[in-house]
Amino acid sequence: MKPISSRAARRLSKKVARNATLTIGEIAARVESARIKDLSATVQARAKRILLSYLQTAQSHEMPLTDVLGEMASGQAAWRLGHAVRDEIMKNPPDVVGKAACAESCAFCCILKGGEGGLITAFEATQLHKALASQQGKPDGRDWHPDACASLDPETRTCRAYDARPMICRSFISTDAEACKKNAEGGKERGAGLLGNHLDYLVIHALCRAALKGVTMVHSYSLAAVTAGAVSGAEAGTTLATSRHKPSALAIACRDGAIAAGS
Ligand code: SF4
Ligand code: SF4
Repeated sequence: MKPISSRAARRLSKKVARNATLTIGEIAARVESARIKDLSATVQARAKRILLSYLQTAQSHEMPLTDVLGEMASGQAAWRLGHAVRDEIMKNPPDVVGKAACAESCAFCCILKGGEGGLITAFEATQLHKALASQQGKPDGRDWHPDACASLDPETRTCRAYDARPMICRSFISTDAEACKKNAEGGKERGAGLLGNHLDYLVIHALCRAALKGVTMVHSYSLAAVTAGAVSGAEAGTTLATSRHKPSALAIACRDGAIAAGS
């Protein structure tokens, strides 16, 4: 996965220059004092530990401040740390992993209820847009089901941007494909859900936003809108601008994720 674009890096450099006293240590202090509304102290403390260890590593490797800020603002930091947690989970996987019904071409989870499809970061949105560049104008998932993700191949029902699929797609798992099918049509069947790394990823992204307040903006985006924009041929900048969430979406996703995880 590539770092942020050179244009975004230049914009960030200017912002860092305006905050000339900013250091990685200061960002870490901002993370420590950050508070995410309606989220338990335990969930926040866990995500803070993970993000602070990333900042410590960045500091010990003398990573440039603009790179650190760029990764935090784009969501690349949350993505990377969410993956590291997922790798840890997989070393001693919960029962649901062994019992998973997930298989190639089983794509009821790619039917995106409410047209939203879940929250993704700028980093993930950019990667998805690039991966779907060659799919413009071709039949897409919506030719199979009107609410399906535009990244889906309507014939094979496989993801056409598999290597660039976002954290929400990598974390979703189910022990019952029939339940997924019913849920895709509005049911409330049990058996499907997100692995624990997804909540960490969301809360880390929210902490990055809180820590970078006044330095740079940290956005979130709609998965469904990004994939639809990408296959329509819209440019990346336009796709991201039209897919951007309201600021409240990230806090709501954290809160809903914590409720689903029972945390
Ligand atoms: S989450 Fe459900 S729909 Fe998606 S692959 Fe697994 S069983 Fe199939
Ligand atoms: S990005 Fe791929 S895996 Fe994720 S919902 Fe879309 S088609 Fe499914």
